[in-house]
Amino acid sequence: MATVTNSMSKNPAWSDLTFSDNGTGISTNAVTDHTAAPEHHHPIVGDRVIEGDGTSQNAWQNWQGLQDLPRLHIAQDFLPHQRVCVFAPHPDDEILGCGGMLQQLAANGNPIVLVHVTNGTQSHPNSQIYPPHTLDIIRPQESLAALDILGVAIQTTTVSLDLPDGDVFAQQAQFNEKLAAIIQPDDILVTPFIHDGHPDHEATGQVVAAFAKQHNLACYQALIWAWHWAKPDDSRIPWHSAIRLDLTAEQLQRKTQAIACFTSQITVDESTGNSPILSAQTIARISQIWEVYLYEPHL
Ligand SMILES: [Zn+2]
Repeated sequence: MATVTNSMSKNPAWSDLTFSDNGTGISTNAVTDHTAAPEHHHPIVGDRVIEGDGTSQNAWQNWQGLQDLPRLHIAQDFLPHQRVCVFAPHPDDEILGCGGMLQQLAANGNPIVLVHVTNGTQSHPNSQIYPPHTLDIIRPQESLAALDILGVAIQTTTVSLDLPDGDVFAQQAQFNEKLAAIIQPDDILVTPFIHDGHPDHEATGQVVAAFAKQHNLACYQALIWAWHWAKPDDSRIPWHSAIRLDLTAEQLQRKTQAIACFTSQITVDESTGNSPILSAQTIARISQIWEVYLYEPHL
């Protein structure tokens, strides 16, 4: 995996930042000028910096703390008629973070609304194979193929908010307005962790979590990019609020197959020579028999 970073741009205007989706949402064209801020401290994500290979799959597997987390049981904890809105900053985050939950929601009969906050058009800067107008079309198609593999496509309605990839933070007011038109009073919301480490993920988490709090809706925050930068027992993650969803072997297999649907994210870009955006280690790290969500009842 190519070294990636979400380090500080010399230009503090969020709209000029070139963050893009790396599947889990990481830029391959990150600005490396750190003169305006200390290295490893980003104006939005602070010290939750995504760079290098990240924490290994083994480190997480060997951490007893994950084994000890309370469990989320969809059939017990979610009423079957309740609609669940899953927010993906970029098409693929819904699978990486929630591929197991989606399958269990479908089995439980819950209607699912998948909200693509952006279409992930900025994942391949300067690419001739994957220019933004191409990604705008194929990434939602990859998502649909992945939902099909999971067996949840029929129960899922996908909505695209079409906010600018890499710039969600600057669009929070518009995002909130769009939410008001989508969310219904009894919905359950699922969003990336408010401190997930990618600016688009954090912006999405913060807008959705704030909306949930304002409207007294249940909100589950998925760990996606946090698995990369965080360490076991990391104090930057509120583990006391964490709950674990266990996947069956079959569900994990389908999730892994679904990740493989995102061809644009898992193959070498021949036009730029860039490595796959989702490295083998990233895929291995996210392909576990668990998903972890942060949840605080009665926020
Ligand atoms: Zn992402």
